[in-house]
Amino acid sequence: MFDYVKRMVASLIGQSHQEVNRTPRIITPEEHGIDPKLVSWAAVRTCEVLQKRGFKAYVVGGAVRDLLLGVKPKDFDVATDATPEQVKRAHRRAFIIGRRFRLVHVVFGTEIIECSTFRALDAQGVRKDSQGRVISDNIFGEMWEDAARRDFTINALYYDPATGNVYDYHGGYEDIKRKTLRMIGVPQARYREDPVRMMRAVRISAKLGFQIERRTDKAIAEMAHLLSNVPAARLFDEMIKLFTCGKAEACLVKLRQEGLHRSLLPMLDVILDEPDGEKFLMLALKRTDDRIRVGKKISPAFLFATLLWPQVIKRWNAYQAGEQKMLRSKALYTAADDVIATQTAKLAIQHRFVADMKLIWMLQLRFERRTGKNPYTLVEHPKYRAGYDFMLLRSELGHVPASLVHWWEDFVDADEQKRAEMVNAAQLEARQTAAKARAGSGKSRSERQEERFTDEVTKVESPKKEGSRRRRRPRSQSRGKAAQDAAAGAAQSEQS
Ligand code: ATP
Ligand code: MG
Repeated sequence: MFDYVKRMVASLIGQSHQEVNRTPRIITPEEHGIDPKLVSWAAVRTCEVLQKRGFKAYVVGGAVRDLLLGVKPKDFDVATDATPEQVKRAHRRAFIIGRRFRLVHVVFGTEIIECSTFRALDAQGVRKDSQGRVISDNIFGEMWEDAARRDFTINALYYDPATGNVYDYHGGYEDIKRKTLRMIGVPQARYREDPVRMMRAVRISAKLGFQIERRTDKAIAEMAHLLSNVPAARLFDEMIKLFTCGKAEACLVKLRQEGLHRSLLPMLDVILDEPDGEKFLMLALKRTDDRIRVGKKISPAFLFATLLWPQVIKRWNAYQAGEQKMLRSKALYTAADDVIATQTAKLAIQHRFVADMKLIWMLQLRFERRTGKNPYTLVEHPKYRAGYDFMLLRSELGHVPASLVHWWEDFVDADEQKRAEMVNAAQLEARQTAAKARAGSGKSRSERQEERFTDEVTKVESPKKEGSRRRRRPRSQSRGKAAQDAAAGAAQSEQS
């Protein structure tokens, strides 16, 4: 009861650290049963070297949580009372990184152990912005302070590889048993300091199948608006983590429930209202989860290409139908530009991803063309695989005939002679269709224009030519202002 009153008072006066516990509960190996074989040798070695020099050093964070759950951690973090300089001096290959929070990367072959110095609570050195977000802090403190600075109780456990003991300041061990994700301190205050913790709550609870504790959960809806104050690059990183945690579907459902998606993808609501929008999105996320489960890589460009595709389709149709009556290929290209401009401003999707997303979309047109040189050059295209996977996804929703997908599957596997036969047959079929349509033969002028445009924007520059010759821009882009204005206008009306 006393504890409850203390918490209430702390929450009323908005102080998150009133109830900080300075003495940890020590959980012995017999009690917790962590399998030492799951602990990386590099993490053990990092601690050992520091401990030999008289410092404290523990494995900390998600790794301990995963070890207690019997899962092999994907990476290891170490917390110590040695300063970054002292850590650097103790290890042969160690590099100080970061400005906002200075960390040391201790490198062992391909494995990197992230080593942080215990941080102080409410230190003078903490700088916050006008909304209370912490923008820098490099003041070091005690272990109990470091524990109180971590986000969730289950992330504030310290494992000493030398003794096998786990140190628990905030009841994280019990919370793991109860499958509960609980914020340390007063959730509102902790989200204010770092709004990304709201996304972490969604991701970690979905990934582990944990329930978010009531107060921790309730505060999210209240503080969701603060996410718009987070730098775009950090949001992007967190989005990628979220969509590649293996539980992307569950994360998205939760993000929407909490209203967090609005700051991330401004038009997610609109996407989900599109015909097939929700189906496409969920299918894309399910496939992502499946790939992660079997250890396959996920490309952020592919992921965002699928997330934004329903929007692209909508504008693609509009550009073909509207006053502009654009060529199909040009309309797709312009639609892609629009969607990228409006959806990704907040996320700062890196340039290279944006370029790949556009390629994946534009290549869809080339998959329709099974004649001439196109099939041969397309299968050699560096983005062929991504484009093909994307077409597969579209076909699962009935947007592309399954026969087309099979044709490409066969073509890739076929030998030269079989390929030639397939292209000839496709050519004949195309001629017959064209003949029926126009009572003539050969390609129309606009068809040829379409093809030229698509080829141009999906062209692969040979490495030699790159740098010496600038890529020619398609006209819709180089026309610049007018096209951009039209696009911006369309984008605005879309959002309103
Ligand atoms: P993952 O399984 O994704 O690696 P994690 O909990 O290990 O989950 P990291 O980003 O690797 O996440 O962070 C390591 C530890 O650092 C966390 O367990 C937590 O203790 C602390 N931490 C990370 N981000 C924050 C944050 N925004 N606020 C407070 N503590 C944080
Ligand atoms: Mg981690």
